[in-house]
Amino acid sequence: MPNKFDVVVIGGGPAGYVCAIRAAQLGLKTACIEKWTGDKGKPQLGGTCLNVGCIPSKALLDSSHKFHEAEADFKQHGIEHSGVKLDVPAMIARKNKIVAKLCMGVESLFKANGVTLLHGMGKVLAGKQVELTRNDGSVETFDAENIVIATGSTPVEIPPTPLTDDIIVDSTGALEFQEVPERLGVIGAGVIGLELGSVWARVGSKVTVLEAQDAFLAAADQQVAKEALKIFKKQKLDIRMGARVVGSDVANGEVAVRYTTADSEEEQSVTFDKLIVAVGRRPYTEGLLEPGCGVNLDERGFIFVDEQCRTDVPGVFAIGDVVRGPMLAHKGSEEGVMVAELIKEKTAQVNYDLIPSVIYTHPEVAWVGQTEEEVKASGESYKVGTFPFAAIGRALAANDTDGIVKVIAHEETDRILGVHVVGPSAAEIVQQGVIAMEFGSSTEDLQLTMFAHPTLSEALHEAVLAVDGHAIHMPNRKPRGKK
Ligand code: FAD
Ligand code: AMP
Repeated sequence: MPNKFDVVVIGGGPAGYVCAIRAAQLGLKTACIEKWTGDKGKPQLGGTCLNVGCIPSKALLDSSHKFHEAEADFKQHGIEHSGVKLDVPAMIARKNKIVAKLCMGVESLFKANGVTLLHGMGKVLAGKQVELTRNDGSVETFDAENIVIATGSTPVEIPPTPLTDDIIVDSTGALEFQEVPERLGVIGAGVIGLELGSVWARVGSKVTVLEAQDAFLAAADQQVAKEALKIFKKQKLDIRMGARVVGSDVANGEVAVRYTTADSEEEQSVTFDKLIVAVGRRPYTEGLLEPGCGVNLDERGFIFVDEQCRTDVPGVFAIGDVVRGPMLAHKGSEEGVMVAELIKEKTAQVNYDLIPSVIYTHPEVAWVGQTEEEVKASGESYKVGTFPFAAIGRALAANDTDGIVKVIAHEETDRILGVHVVGPSAAEIVQQGVIAMEFGSSTEDLQLTMFAHPTLSEALHEAVLAVDGHAIHMPNRKPRGKK
């Protein structure tokens, strides 16, 4: 039956496309519905992550980092040049090429694995049926043994700063600037605001970040967050904490943004050439659920699911940004694999305690597991080791010495509870922590592990040694350990 599938996935982002591929690998007859339309009117897979999220932002972060290094760091290495110039349209075009290549790659993977790609808007009907509305308005209905909803998320808009065509933009607009804005405002000092602010600051924008909360990176370990804030301020990012944006006026090609702070009765104002609104994302479920289909939302608008991504309807699952948990590509992909395996094998799970978080600024900020604040609140006894990159030979060689590694472990069992890093290659170092923690490592396990010299990873080795007061390349503040 051509209109009957074992699995119909709605949404072809990193949650949905990974789920579809894994389901097909397991021998399930699988279709994926995607509404995104590319340049030539064809469906475009990859979702937010590949098209307007993880990948394009990293492409611009890498380009802008190279520019900044050439401008600011080359001299220290003895490299003289007669001035570097930035071609913004060429930088954006390179980014677009990478996006196109990766999206086409996913399409090829669908072909190779036998996943049927359906282009249009998917809707969940009652009785495990899915309705597809194509761009030309034609409608077709499919029967599905299992439905997987992976419709992702969309940027939050706030009434004080309605988006305009070219001055007030969201994260998607900020990936398309064709010139460097002289004065750039960013609302929200979250992951996206900091990454996009960094891109444009490195190539010459004067960047001001307005953040309503008082605590910088409230979800991160606060010692690491404070260190990161110090570093970003040194980079001339003007980050104003406790600044709640309440209004804006666009006139003469600029925007005046009004905000309040706790220490002043009067509204403050600051004027920008461009403003990026990066105040978070919300689950995307528009037009997705036919009333009476049985799938429910929670009080925050996410599709309600259990630990294994089952909705209230047997055989209907939901994964990725559209369900609870951090809005991260790797979290969605792992849920996609879990659901495909649950459908086929009936047992599978995701370890939600070990989802790594990364902010791809320079230096990066990354962490996994519990923060010191969380461990303290849990009442468990714990020990901490920190180590600065300033004492790591490889960091000095690279002229990249800002930041620290912090490891938190259980006082009695020695089991690692959290790894928190601000510094060069923080994401890669934290990934080592993820692997260690997934295997239930103690700090002693990592203390006894040999780390190649000279590497940035040695900062992790020294930090786990510091947990027991025997780091080698710095004086230990704690009394020497018993071991
Ligand atoms: P999405 O990627 O949003 O995909 C959902 C797909 O479903 C879309 O293609 C959409 O068109 C389609 N769709 C929606 N409704 C329907 C429908 N009814 N019918 C058919 N199709 C539909 N995460 C990281 O882990 N690392 C990063 O570095 C990172 N950087 C980011 C940078 C930016 C600027 C942004 C905006 C996000 C970033 N993220 C990052 C977050 C990441 O992009 C998301 O967590 C991830 O894309 C979520 O995957 P998803 O598959 O759940 O949803
Ligand atoms: P994230 O959810 O990590 O992307 O971060 C978004 C950030 O935007 C949060 O830290 C919010 O506190 C912040 N934010 C939301 N609304 C406003 C506002 N009106 N003014 C300033 N910051 C805001």
